[in-house]
Amino acid sequence: MKIPTICRYCGGKVVLTDSSKIYGKNYGKIYLCTNCNAFCGVHKNSDKPLGTLANSILRTKRKETHQVFDRFWKDKKMSRTEGYRWLSEQMKLPFSATHIGYFEIEECQKVIDICNENAA
Ligand SMILES: [Zn+2]
Repeated sequence: MKIPTICRYCGGKVVLTDSSKIYGKNYGKIYLCTNCNAFCGVHKNSDKPLGTLANSILRTKRKETHQVFDRFWKDKKMSRTEGYRWLSEQMKLPFSATHIGYFEIEECQKVIDICNENAA
């Protein structure tokens, strides 16, 4: 995942900063747009972003998608990796590109729909 320097929403400057700026408590570093406050998390002990910069609507959607998908693979008695492998096939995406943190609203909805269609 490329390090964001320019916000994909507003073109504002993106800085690596402390998540306490957003949450009031430090959960690690984030990339934060200094103009519109879109942000994304960062892998522990690195500068690697966890996904693409997200505004509040997309963050809410990704959270919902994670809840649905994580429940899905657990209900199916899959491991996390098996779950993501299955999802990559369903989404027709390479395994390495199958991360909810990379998805836009439409792809998140597709994940939710696929999970609902395949729920036992
Ligand atoms: Zn921005």
